[in-house]
Amino acid sequence: MKRLFLSLMLLGSALPASAAEVLTTIKPIGFIAAAITRDISTPEVLLPSGASPHDFALRPSDIRRIESADLVVWVGPDLEQFMVKPLAGKSNTLTLLDIPGLPLHRFSEEDSHEHDHDHDAGAHEAHGHDHDDGDHDEHDHDHHAGGIDPHIWLGPNLAVPIAKAIVERLSAIDPANQARYQANLARFEQELALKDKQVASMMEPVKKQGYFVFHEAYGYWERHYGMQAKGHFTVSPERRPGAKTLVAIRKALEEQQARCVFAEPQFKPDVIESVARNTGAKVLIQDETGGDLAVGPDAYIQWMDNMAKGFAACQ
Ligand SMILES: [Zn+2]
Repeated sequence: MKRLFLSLMLLGSALPASAAEVLTTIKPIGFIAAAITRDISTPEVLLPSGASPHDFALRPSDIRRIESADLVVWVGPDLEQFMVKPLAGKSNTLTLLDIPGLPLHRFSEEDSHEHDHDHDAGAHEAHGHDHDDGDHDEHDHDHHAGGIDPHIWLGPNLAVPIAKAIVERLSAIDPANQARYQANLARFEQELALKDKQVASMMEPVKKQGYFVFHEAYGYWERHYGMQAKGHFTVSPERRPGAKTLVAIRKALEEQQARCVFAEPQFKPDVIESVARNTGAKVLIQDETGGDLAVGPDAYIQWMDNMAKGFAACQ
């Protein structure tokens, strides 16, 4: 008994004293956090794989996880509207959209105007989705125009400032591990820079190909690598593509203006298949959410590689 007690004591002392428990809303942010907490702790992710932050409702067990986490990292109300209330009374939260100097961009005005027309015929309930700013009616063409694009994890150039902000907060909460967080940040920056170079060369041939994406999510990636989609089926996944948009995309595919259309595994809209049918365009899958990857210290780099391969399939 005494020996058992002793070995438990030894085991206990080998474990990190009290590493901070990080909870992120979505997986790709969990990937960045995991690079920082390498060999210290593994971040938890609130949204299950395949769930869309555009349309998510918290369960009571989620609320408990939010309450017990030492640090909650979320993008901001532009993406996870469902987090606003649960986070209201919590002090240890990191709102990534508030990081000073983060190179954010806005959705284009012209584009959203067109889409709002398309969507006027459809349902207009807002399930806390990102591209709304609240009330809108049939004649409101502004609810998406000029809004902040919240898909910040799509920008490899944003990953470092995000990682730095996580290090800063974790160092304050868990000062015992500060040096290790810093060392992990340095390693992440190095690995990211290397992967970024590889991806840039993988994107070179793709730049010449026109393509359509399912929803307007890839702007940060496209700007960073000098690519540009011909357009998207819908501004936000919970909105069905408008009839005018479908006709326009079909026409562009028939005229060979674009070679590929990218579906997303979470939504699998048959509409993409039918629009592309008999046009010669390839239907490919792009997964911005990292759904098939486990959260771990190398996952963000792996996710970049997967994204790059996804785009590179359009050749
Ligand atoms: Zn999105």
